[in-house]
Amino acid sequence: MGTSPEAGITGWLCSILLILSFNVQAADKPEPLLVIVIDDLGDNQAKGIAAINLPGALTYAFLPHTPFSSSLAKRAYKSGKEVILHAPMENKAGLRLGPGALTQSLTTAELAQVLNGGLDAIPNVVGMNNHMGSLLTEDRQKMQTVMRVARNRGLFFLDSMTTPATVAWKVAAEQGVPVLMRDVFLDNKREREYIHQQFVQALALAVTKGQAVAIGHPYPETVAYLAEALPQLAKLGIKLVTASELLELRPQRSLIQKKPSLKGCDRHEGHCPSYPLASSSKQNPGTITDQLNTD
Ligand SMILES: [Zn+2]
Repeated sequence: MGTSPEAGITGWLCSILLILSFNVQAADKPEPLLVIVIDDLGDNQAKGIAAINLPGALTYAFLPHTPFSSSLAKRAYKSGKEVILHAPMENKAGLRLGPGALTQSLTTAELAQVLNGGLDAIPNVVGMNNHMGSLLTEDRQKMQTVMRVARNRGLFFLDSMTTPATVAWKVAAEQGVPVLMRDVFLDNKREREYIHQQFVQALALAVTKGQAVAIGHPYPETVAYLAEALPQLAKLGIKLVTASELLELRPQRSLIQKKPSLKGCDRHEGHCPSYPLASSSKQNPGTITDQLNTD
């Protein structure tokens, strides 16, 4: 309270710089690697361009068959960024999925066809992660189909971890698909202080585990924060890498067995509380947040 955002980020950097660098040097740990994925690209050109203009090796996840997904994916690739498919998967909350959605009612052949269609629509795609998917990623059979497509096309899979019971990462590992798991959602709340807190959590994980995967969205608040924070990573001894670079650099560490712990809005597919609901009869954002914090 009382400090400007600029003063806040500068103060933060000064205060944790020594701690982080001491941790890195003292413990003889590998260089901390941080992956940042920007999800939900393709619907809005201006927000997409702003996100792609962020400095460094970011990974961009495009929703299939959206108005700007193809042009933005080309733009990202030309800017040296990584492009992945943000595959919409059925969720338990009744949230709208958009085109190219993978749902439980699809047969195996249909699911593969829809997924291949989504991948074909995104130029230079090298991997995928799930958009929402709290229902589908718990379905082992559906995930086997998804991972078969990923393996056949030589793609990696990033489990967005939208449900604690996801089997996506397990099935990917079983089928030999390079796999990562999301550690932190940066912007479940579109507030600078919250984004800052989540970003610091991602840095701390990168330092303690050697790597961390954070997911954000092309919100103006997130892009503004990252535009200031990303150039500071080198000073902190943390290397920003794309998802596939992490898999190349740390293949043996890419799949760390961990008990997924989801809290707060993580339960809401990484899109709470402002994401539009499919039905107006759903809870209002306040009650969703309240419910999510109860168990
Ligand atoms: Zn998404």
